[in-house]
Amino acid sequence: MLLVSTELGLYCEAGGFYVDPHGAVERAIITHAHADHARRGSARYLTAAAGEALLRARLGGGVIETLRYGERRRVGDVDVSLHPAGHVLGSSQARLEHRGEVWVVTGDFKRQADPTCAPFEPLAAHTLVIESTFGLPIFRWPAAERAVGEISAWWRACAEAGQTAVLYAYALGKAQRLLASLPRDLGPIYTHGAVERLCAVYRGQLPEHTLPPTQVAVGLARDAKTDGALVIAPPSAHGSPWLRRFGAISTGFASGWMRVRGMRRRRAIDRGFVISDHADWPALLDTVQQSGTERVVVTHGYVEVLARWLREQGREALVARTAFVGEVEEPEGADEADDGAE
Ligand SMILES: [Zn+2]
Ligand SMILES: [Zn+2]
Repeated sequence: MLLVSTELGLYCEAGGFYVDPHGAVERAIITHAHADHARRGSARYLTAAAGEALLRARLGGGVIETLRYGERRRVGDVDVSLHPAGHVLGSSQARLEHRGEVWVVTGDFKRQADPTCAPFEPLAAHTLVIESTFGLPIFRWPAAERAVGEISAWWRACAEAGQTAVLYAYALGKAQRLLASLPRDLGPIYTHGAVERLCAVYRGQLPEHTLPPTQVAVGLARDAKTDGALVIAPPSAHGSPWLRRFGAISTGFASGWMRVRGMRRRRAIDRGFVISDHADWPALLDTVQQSGTERVVVTHGYVEVLARWLREQGREALVARTAFVGEVEEPEGADEADDGAE
């Protein structure tokens, strides 16, 4: 086995490195900058060049080396290359080759288009280590354009009703994807500080005007008029005093979890919009199929369900216990406490 599951996560003995370790190690390959994949304290990091700025913003220390997508580097006895995962800016799949045997770790990925990152690149592998955050047959995403259309219509309706539309979205990735996708003529856009900090990193990496102008809401006077505006905030802002500055609000949440009946009501959120930065069930199966893989290792989320389904299709499927948690709050950069895994 080129990669084994350890307490610190996926370890490659032949290469002397971990992929997205759960703690501090000598050498870490990092697929992307989300908190459960990029942890502080390791001595050396290797990540995709497109994700370096986000990783630096996250880590605060450590030596970060980079590879361009597709560039190969020998690490120990292993040829390593990183390929676009389509998840968030700079996210990658790790391709590991050792004595003719190829392993691919998808990291978090999606197959839908995203104007803020390079599209997922299908790779062939003998063994595919795949995430299954949304590995249940109920998870099927409508086209992203549909969610964007629904958000736009809701924003317009809020404006007509004299309300401020407060949209909750994960601060790293989802917020910027939505900003890049929404129409620009509907009204001003305000951001929570945690969202704005990451927007600043995105703006430094993406072509100008990929993201619309935004204003950080922290400077708003208590009696500022924001009706007709859209506010983008991390989900942890929900129910917090931070919202008081906006007067009459309507709340929405953009997440794959909005596909689950009752999730929106339980959180007392007015509107749910189904849009995710992870692969849905059909995309997981397609990705396994396209890789031509002999063996699948499932991590992250509904591992048993996907592994069982693959076995029933006659594939070898193993489960790796990892500490990845899926779409969660971004604890760093957010001013509020972590909601934890959903
Ligand atoms: Zn992620
Ligand atoms: Zn993840």
